[in-house]
Amino acid sequence: MSQSPTREELLPVSTGNRCLFCGAADWTWVYLLGNEPDWVQQLDWSLSWHAFLCDACHDLYERGDDETLVRVYLDQPEPEADEDQARQWVRVVRARQSEPPIPRADAVVPGVDNLARQGFTPIENLTGACELAVVWPEEHRRSIPEVRSWALEDEVLQGRLWAVRPPWPGWTFDDVFIYLWSVVDDYQEPKQWLDAAAKALHADESEARDQLERARSRSDM
Ligand SMILES: [Zn+2]
Repeated sequence: MSQSPTREELLPVSTGNRCLFCGAADWTWVYLLGNEPDWVQQLDWSLSWHAFLCDACHDLYERGDDETLVRVYLDQPEPEADEDQARQWVRVVRARQSEPPIPRADAVVPGVDNLARQGFTPIENLTGACELAVVWPEEHRRSIPEVRSWALEDEVLQGRLWAVRPPWPGWTFDDVFIYLWSVVDDYQEPKQWLDAAAKALHADESEARDQLERARSRSDM
């Protein structure tokens, strides 16, 4: 049997999640799924320890309207589960729910929503390479004290939760990362990789734009 994480390991959370049922990015409730009844453990799939819900789905869930939740799920552009699976999925969430839902404001790292309001996105929502934030141009990044134990263990992050915005006006994060990966992919050694990323993120816009266009035309071929 797997060891359940403690509540302290599960909270707080950051912002980069979607509503479990409708897929909306602006989730407002966190459900902790700390129970693992035998029948759930015997399934050949599992949910994570959190479920994030938007206001609308939270209302349906609290009302016990599972049929509507299933329909909301199936209305997503590309639902991964069929109707029976979606129905079982709702049952699993209910069976695993281990305490009352927690409002977003009480569940997120203090200050992280404020960064988002200022136009900065937590780096972990964008890429697993969170160390990029450390070399991101200073005027395009912010940080707040980290409180999550697992993230505090990562020395590179210096005990901070980092959020960034694209270094050039008019660029989307999609542009930024296509550009960036096209520059750093040649480097295997972590220090060289990060140095190359630092240089790329501080490049002139015209230079970066040329490289982005080259990278885009290569991927079109
Ligand atoms: Zn929803």
